[in-house]
Amino acid sequence: MIVIMRPGTTIEEVDKLKNKIEREGCKVSLLKGENQCILGLVGDTTRIDPSKIEANKHVERVTKVQQPYKLANRLFHPSETVIRVKDEIIGGKKLAVIAGPCSVESEEQIVEIARSVKESGAGFLRGGAFKPRTSPYSFQGLKKHGLELLKIARQETGLPIVTEIMSADMIDLFVQNVDVIQVGARNMHNFELLKELGKTRTPILLKRGLSATIEELIMSAEYLMSEGNENVILCERGVRTFETYTRNTLDLSAIPAIKRLSHLPIIVDPSHAAGMWWMVEPLSKAAIAVGADGLMIEVHNDPENAKCDGQQSLTPKRFKTLMADLEPIAAAVNREL
Ligand code: PEP
Ligand code: MN
Repeated sequence: MIVIMRPGTTIEEVDKLKNKIEREGCKVSLLKGENQCILGLVGDTTRIDPSKIEANKHVERVTKVQQPYKLANRLFHPSETVIRVKDEIIGGKKLAVIAGPCSVESEEQIVEIARSVKESGAGFLRGGAFKPRTSPYSFQGLKKHGLELLKIARQETGLPIVTEIMSADMIDLFVQNVDVIQVGARNMHNFELLKELGKTRTPILLKRGLSATIEELIMSAEYLMSEGNENVILCERGVRTFETYTRNTLDLSAIPAIKRLSHLPIIVDPSHAAGMWWMVEPLSKAAIAVGADGLMIEVHNDPENAKCDGQQSLTPKRFKTLMADLEPIAAAVNREL
């Protein structure tokens, strides 16, 4: 962090600020100019709040040179994080493919989809039991019963289950029953939920908020990690832009950016990004080509009658074709499916 003092500030005032920052645990180097001083803060500046320094009337400007996150930062953890979930891994050479319906609707539905996606090579089953819907009148999910149905599908196929949590009072239930807990886009900024989930050790799939920056997404991961849960998987699922043709705009540049900034695995959800089933295939290919560690894809056995997101769901047959088509792309970037 660099602090530029206002021209003409007395050396006493500069020293006062320098001492104050040093008391907070940072080393400060002072650069004295003709009539302006600059302070260079080195060491762990994550606990220094730049807005407090900016509030000092002798300060002209504060510039951050280091990211505000530490545990999620690649700087302090150069190797990739690999997360183990039962026999599967996320973040290794093998790409993690999470597939399944937007929401769990019935035992027959979830078991049939689970069997078919497993046969096509998916490593995880997804399915919402508690659904965050825009309208309170839309299907809200089967809730606890939905979790039971996911467990039946897991038992039938061996696939680990990924499902979304909406509130902290459900944490015990999820920890006992679910393999990967999803924090949806709408809850990425729910810091109280993140702090509570941080106290568990269950892997967390953290989706990017609707209008969240890359730094905000990583800061939310930092919330989980700061409480001790380092099993965090990030997910790019498209962000809101001026474009209305697609449901969201898939930010493919977030993948190489996050790979540079963080050691955490990052997967892509092309279904919620595009909002149209026919765009899932090209976007999945692109995601793998830019270095994503996996995909989360909505698959439904009867998209026309799906209770949620049928328009963006692949049929099991299309999913099978997609998996085969992705193989040469994965190989081209030295990954496996
Ligand atoms: C989902 O994955 O079911 C979902 C609701 O996604 P998002 O939180 O990204 O909108
Ligand atoms: Mn959905």
